[in-house]
Amino acid sequence: MGEQGQVIFVCASCASPGITREAWSAWDVASQSWRLSELFDYAFCHRCHRRTQIEERTAEG
Ligand SMILES: [Zn+2]
Repeated sequence: MGEQGQVIFVCASCASPGITREAWSAWDVASQSWRLSELFDYAFCHRCHRRTQIEERTAEG
């Protein structure tokens, strides 16, 4: 479980990490939990309150 090279995803317009992404989860009987099965490109910034682009950054110590 390497902690180096950790990545953070932020809003491309305001740089807030408060973004969420559209996804599907499917029920997994074996683990009795909802497992992420599909990720979509649609991203929403909860600070801008609108659709946004996700920007990937590397978290530096
Ligand atoms: Zn934003």
